Amino acid sequence: NSDLILYVNLELVNKKSDRRYIVEEMLGQGTFGQVAKCWDAETNSYVAVKVIKNQPAFYQQAIMEVSLLSMLNDKFDPDDQHHIVRMLDFFPWKNHLCITFEMLGHNLYELLKKNNLRGLQLQFVRTFSRQILDALIVMKGAGIIHCDLKPENILITPKVNSAAGVKVIDFGSACMEGKTIYSYIQSRYYRSPEVLLGYPARYTTAIDMWSFGCIVAELYIGLPLFPGASEYDVLSRMIEMVGGQPPDDLLREAKNTRKFFKHAGSIYPGNEAHDGLRSSYRILTEDEVEARDSKKPKIGKWYFPRGRLDRLIFSYPWKNLNEGNLPEAEKEDCLALVDFLRGLVEFDPNK
Ligand code: ADP
Ligand code: MG
Repeated sequence: NSDLILYVNLELVNKKSDRRYIVEEMLGQGTFGQVAKCWDAETNSYVAVKVIKNQPAFYQQAIMEVSLLSMLNDKFDPDDQHHIVRMLDFFPWKNHLCITFEMLGHNLYELLKKNNLRGLQLQFVRTFSRQILDALIVMKGAGIIHCDLKPENILITPKVNSAAGVKVIDFGSACMEGKTIYSYIQSRYYRSPEVLLGYPARYTTAIDMWSFGCIVAELYIGLPLFPGASEYDVLSRMIEMVGGQPPDDLLREAKNTRKFFKHAGSIYPGNEAHDGLRSSYRILTEDEVEARDSKKPKIGKWYFPRGRLDRLIFSYPWKNLNEGNLPEAEKEDCLALVDFLRGLVEFDPNK
């Protein structure tokens, strides 16, 4: 990806005076490093500074983050209208690459937690979803796959005219479509079927659309949609909740299919397949997986949702109402939400 790296203006590096950024508090910690809230003594404003771990692999990946984000910011969203975080600067400091961003608010996981994991009002789900989708459309136009879309990587924007808003952050795992390198990507709950199944050379921006579907559902119900304790657990929850399974041509070509599926020479008897087509694969039973792995899936601390997607949406958020007693307007909203989600958690990446 040398053409991308060239996009970074290396002349910017090393021009910064010492003691420009004064650390006030730590905002977050991740695999790549730490993020600090800093006072920028040059512009007299707060900024978020991501300090990347001082190891070569992280440094390289951070250069990628800088390249892709500067391209997105400058070329594809020059007027800051598409809900993508603004990168302000970057500089090396004692073998750490540091990236400064505009200062944003809490991430969506923190917001859900503050709400006791009961989910947000539909009005906010709608606004946030529209804005994330707007960012994804721009990213698709740029051919950039985020590869780690999840509530922790979506931040509330400070209130302007008291309108609620969000921005997508953390391009630390992002890559260009057609130049995909890694096969072990995305956080497990938000991992798309094609990544789980190992379709490495072929994944596209569609994997972000899957994660987006998981996020929209989570914003409404307050809990992750596919909180699997293992990859098998995630996949079996998908199949149970969405109905059907990944299309046979994907299963045939993917590397990891045999970890999860049994294959019959012909059509698998009595198996519900993708889009009403009949399949020659069926997912392994939990017993078969247990017998193989001889370890049980861990049970989480929370009661996690199971069952069909429509039932789940209609019975949340914790209203103790079933479909029958929902007010007419809410019933329509739920139907629309289920319809929207079905388009997003779609097993066929081409769709
Ligand atoms: P990592 O790649 O390690 O996950 P992120 O870029 O996602 O790093 O940052 C980690 C956390 O730091 C985020 O989940 C968020 O809570 C906080 N954070 C990151 N950028 C900002 C920002 N611009 N403003 C406020 N908080 C931020
Ligand atoms: Mg992150």
